Amino acid sequence: MSIHSSTLAELAAGLRKKAYSSVELAKLYLDRIESSQSGLNAFISITREEALAAAAEADRRLAAGEGGPLTGVPIAHKDIFCTDGVRTTCGSRMLENFVSPYDATVVSKLKAAGTVMVGKTNMDEFAMGSSNESSYFGPVRNPWNTALVPGGSSGGSAAAVAARLVPAATATDTGGSIRQPAALCGVTGLKPTYGRVSRYGMVAFASSLDQGGVIAATAEDAALMLGAMAGFDPNDSTSVDRPVPDYTATLNDSVKGLRIGLLKEFFDKGLDPSCEARIREALGVYEKLGAQLREVSLPSLPLSVPTYYVVAPAEASSNLARYDGVRFGYRCENPKDLMDLYCRTRGEGFGAEVKRRIMTGTYVLSAGYYDAYYLKAQKVRQLINRDFERAFAEVDVLIGPTTPTPAFPIGAKIDDPVTMYLNDIYTIGANLAGLPGVSIPCGFVQGLPVGLQIVGPHFGEARVLNVAHVYQRETDWHRHVPDAFK
Ligand code: GLN
Repeated sequence: MSIHSSTLAELAAGLRKKAYSSVELAKLYLDRIESSQSGLNAFISITREEALAAAAEADRRLAAGEGGPLTGVPIAHKDIFCTDGVRTTCGSRMLENFVSPYDATVVSKLKAAGTVMVGKTNMDEFAMGSSNESSYFGPVRNPWNTALVPGGSSGGSAAAVAARLVPAATATDTGGSIRQPAALCGVTGLKPTYGRVSRYGMVAFASSLDQGGVIAATAEDAALMLGAMAGFDPNDSTSVDRPVPDYTATLNDSVKGLRIGLLKEFFDKGLDPSCEARIREALGVYEKLGAQLREVSLPSLPLSVPTYYVVAPAEASSNLARYDGVRFGYRCENPKDLMDLYCRTRGEGFGAEVKRRIMTGTYVLSAGYYDAYYLKAQKVRQLINRDFERAFAEVDVLIGPTTPTPAFPIGAKIDDPVTMYLNDIYTIGANLAGLPGVSIPCGFVQGLPVGLQIVGPHFGEARVLNVAHVYQRETDWHRHVPDAFK
C-alpha cells in the first residue's frame, strides 16, 4: 500500500515507528498537492517552506520521544482560518493579500499538537456556496470526475482529502459545508456541536451557525483531529466550557440496541432513488449489528432552508460590514471621497453570491421587514430546535442522506441560486439546532460517492463518531480513492 493512501492514524503510527520522517511525509504530500493543482485547484496557498521547517521540528520532538498522537502529520487548513504570517483569503478578492497577525485558535491548537500545515485550501467566497464555484480563486474540481463540483463551501478540503493530497484538513460548516462536500467527494466530514470548537480567528459568515470541524478519510481520524481542536476558549464567548473526552476511546462501542431514527422528511421525493438505495443498504448494515430502526418525523424541518436563508444572510450582512476599505483588506484605487471608497471597495472586492447575501440580509433586517422575516425566522428556528429535542427523546441518533444527489456538473446550478440552495436541504437543520453531524461514504452511484449522514444530540460527537466508525469497520467505502490519485 502506498504511503499516501494511509489514514492519519496510520501515518502517526508510521512516524512513531520511524517508517518515515515528518520531513519525508511533508515532501511527499507537497509534491502531490503541487502536481494536482492544475487539475483540481484544491489549494489557495501552498506553504512548502513553513511546512518543511515545522516538519523538521516535529522530527526533533519525535526523536526525543516527545509529542502527542498527531506530532509530525501533515494537514491543511481551510483558508477561512487565520494563520499568522500566511495569507488568509477566505476565497475572496477582498482578502486576497490579507496576512493575519495571529493564528485562529483551531490553528494554534493543531500547531501545538504537532501537526504540520502544508497549505490553505480553496473554498467558496466567505464560505457562501455549495459547489465551490464562488471562489475568487476559481472553482475546485471533484477528484472523482473533474467536470463536476466537489461541493462547498469546504470543497478544497474535501477534494484534497479525497485525492489524498493531505490525510486531513480543517473545514467549517454553517449550513452543511463540511458534510455536503465530504459526501460529494467520498470522505468523512464532522461538524461538531455549536460551541464545541472555538470560532476565534475563523472568518465570520453567520456567527450563530458557523462551526469549525474536520474532513478526513475515516471517523477515527476525525476523532483524533477533533480531540486536538475542541475545547473552551476565553476568546470565543460562544465556546462551551465542557471537558473534551477522548473521542477515540469509544469508537468501538457496540451499537447493539442503538435506536436509530429515520427522518421521514429526509426520505422525500427530492431524494435521488439510487442514493436512497445506498442509504437503505447502509441501514441494513446497522440492523445486522443489532441497531433498531424507527421512523421519526420532524414536522418543522421542511422550513429549514427558508429559515436559514433569512438568518444566515442577516448575520452575514452584519459581519461583512467590516470590509470597508478602511481597516484591512482590499481598497479600491483613487477613491473620490468616503462614499466612493465604500462603494467601489465593496463593489469590486465582493463576488456576486456575497453581494446577493448582503442585500438579502440587509433587507430582512431593515425596519418594517425585521418582524416579518428575521423575527419570524428566529421563531421557526425554535420550532425546528424543539422538533430535534423531541426526536432525541426517542432515538440515539438520526440517520439519513447527506445530500439529495451525488456531485453535479460545474456550471449546472450557478445561475439558479434557489436550486443551488436546495443542496443543503438535509444538512441545514443540524446547523439551526446546533447539533453535531457526520457524513461518511456509503457507496457509489454511477461512479460517484454517496454520503450517509449521522446526526446526534448536543455534544454527542463521541456517539456519532462511534456510529460512523463501526460502519467503517464493516465496509471499505472510505478506502476508495479516485483512479487518478491512487
Ligand atoms: N451552502 C450553504 C450556504 O451557501 C452553507 C454554506 C456553509 O455551510 N458555509 O450558505
